[in-house]
Amino acid sequence: MKKNSVKNEYFDLLTENDLYFYIIELLEAGTLNSLVELVDLIIYTNQQNINVDILKQAFLEFITDNDYLNLLPFTHIQGSNTLSLFVARYIVMVLFSPAIEGRNDKKDADTAYHILLNDVKNYKETDKKPLSHKTIKGLVSVYENFDKKRKISYNQYDQPLTIFTIDFESDLGNSVYHPASNLILLNTIPFEKQAKVGSAEYIFIHELGHALQCKITENDFKVPQSFKSKVVKYIFPEAPDEVLPEIFADCFSIALMNGTKYEDKNLFIKSFGNVRVEMIETYFKKLIEKI
Ligand SMILES: [Zn+2]
Repeated sequence: MKKNSVKNEYFDLLTENDLYFYIIELLEAGTLNSLVELVDLIIYTNQQNINVDILKQAFLEFITDNDYLNLLPFTHIQGSNTLSLFVARYIVMVLFSPAIEGRNDKKDADTAYHILLNDVKNYKETDKKPLSHKTIKGLVSVYENFDKKRKISYNQYDQPLTIFTIDFESDLGNSVYHPASNLILLNTIPFEKQAKVGSAEYIFIHELGHALQCKITENDFKVPQSFKSKVVKYIFPEAPDEVLPEIFADCFSIALMNGTKYEDKNLFIKSFGNVRVEMIETYFKKLIEKI
């Protein structure tokens, strides 16, 4: 007997119209259970030959109904339906991906959906709160001060940078930057955990650093060549290539937070010492001028 067969038989009974409303219903419920069920359903529809237009319509309707400032960069999405909006944005990104549309590559879509399913399954309810709107606004203005032209506002696909703060915790991670949809997802990070992994403020700026890295290289595994010759060579000569994106994002956080009211939230600034901090800051100022 196939796993999930009862659920699949139930899904088989859904007409296209039912499917449309069922997707909206699960998104509107916005609980961890309803979102797991939703991603399961999408994985199932991807395996069958179900018309993706009906799925696109349902997700886009939910997004436009809720994500009203979606076209403005640095929009902060928060509150009870944030995880639903993130899930909807993620699924839309997969549904509209040229690989899925052009070559009908169901395998890539299946992999992407399983990553999402695993992430949603690992979220936990919490009574703690994610970074507040006020703090996000404060940190965004620190960025705007550093980069007056706001170069990371849009990615290469003209997607505005959007920030989601989620009311759930996860043991899998605290934050992520999605280059294709230019969005930053920040989970709730309890203070005990922040003592180990760094402050939520630093983690947010670190993700902005990945946005800058991807804006320049258009590849989340690559850093600008100048970063290797001007920073890595002198400060991190032993660092292997695969960790350079993380070092780039951390150095960006140093450059940005140094000398601001958030300085104490960045543990690297003190431990790096003035000379190295200044060198990193000078590098990022020049880098931003050039792009
Ligand atoms: Zn990172």
